[in-house]
Amino acid sequence: MNKGSKTTLLGLELQELTEFVEEAAEPSYRGRQIYQAMYSDQVAETDEISTLPKEFRDQLNRRRVKVGLPEITKKFIASDGTVRYLMRLADGESVETVWMPEGDEGETGDGSEADVQVAFHKWNRATICVSSQVGCAVNCQFCLTALLEVKRNLSAGEIVGQVIAVLRDQQVSPPNDRVNLVFMGMGEPFLNFDNFVKAVRLLVNGVQIPESRMTVSTAGIVPRIHDLGREPVRPKLAISLNAPNDEIRTRLMPINKKWNIDHLLAAARDFPLRNREKLTFEYVLLSGVNDRVQHARELTERLRGMQAKVNLIALNPGPGIAFQTPDEQAVNVFQKTLVDSRLPAFIRRPRGREIYAACGQLKRTVELTTH
Ligand code: SAH
Repeated sequence: MNKGSKTTLLGLELQELTEFVEEAAEPSYRGRQIYQAMYSDQVAETDEISTLPKEFRDQLNRRRVKVGLPEITKKFIASDGTVRYLMRLADGESVETVWMPEGDEGETGDGSEADVQVAFHKWNRATICVSSQVGCAVNCQFCLTALLEVKRNLSAGEIVGQVIAVLRDQQVSPPNDRVNLVFMGMGEPFLNFDNFVKAVRLLVNGVQIPESRMTVSTAGIVPRIHDLGREPVRPKLAISLNAPNDEIRTRLMPINKKWNIDHLLAAARDFPLRNREKLTFEYVLLSGVNDRVQHARELTERLRGMQAKVNLIALNPGPGIAFQTPDEQAVNVFQKTLVDSRLPAFIRRPRGREIYAACGQLKRTVELTTH
């Protein structure tokens, strides 16, 4: 590291932090102190790392060494308790992160901040939806994030930083508080694979969220599905399938031209599942396009014999999206068709639709009206 240069510590592994403190002529155990303070105690400033001697903290200040948490610039709170966070990164780019306390809708009151915190402490369970890129390059035709195109990858520190910023804001700390993570926010995690995997290691070992409570969703970057299977520490895998055949899938997800359903399902069948683990297939239902009974039947045929479940999501609408949301009955019939042929299928309730926090709605929405 150059003297006088700005440096961000968040995103560094224990080994890297140890090298960092040794270069500053500090004992190597200070690396662990910084690691523990950033990832486990969720400090926002190096000055808050009370285990470090004052002189070392002063030196870090002089050298402009920072923790480097993203800054929460806006919060949109929905009546179901969902909070959509707009976060600003060091270079001025922004991403969105979503907090979803579990529990019955309506139980969380009017959606005020106090209610949201009550919701968590009542149920003691929440899910954070994390972004992996600024924008997205995959171009799924039903997704608002696609309209942004991809600006850049997030660093491991920016991925972990979203989680820590939300945990701090919600005053929640794993492992005592039960937090699930889904890497299903803006971007395609498998097109930022190395940073994503590094972030997962820091979230498991540092922030102490078990890997069994994490799920990563991919649009189907086949080579990285194989790579994920070889990672010693990894989330569960979800695949955005969204269609029962190549004709429909290519129309909805142009990436299907590169890796078609056969390729994708071959990788899925090869994926080494842990004990009792299942693959998840996500399926966005678009009225008249992929939501007919014949599509459900075709889907069960394709997934036959797999350790898998299907999560059904009725389209969350958005400006510039040329598809319609199916009615409730079509969704129920689709689900029943899958379940009747013994393919477990669940209907995902949209979370925070009115604040644009639901799947496929994340879009750095400074331009949207606040509620
Ligand atoms: N790029 C990754 C993760 C982000 S998308 C992926 O594609 O899996 C997370 C999920 O939201 C995907 O399953 C996607 O199919 C779904 N989704 C995207 N747009 C949606 C929309 N408008 N309504 C409902 N679900 C949507």
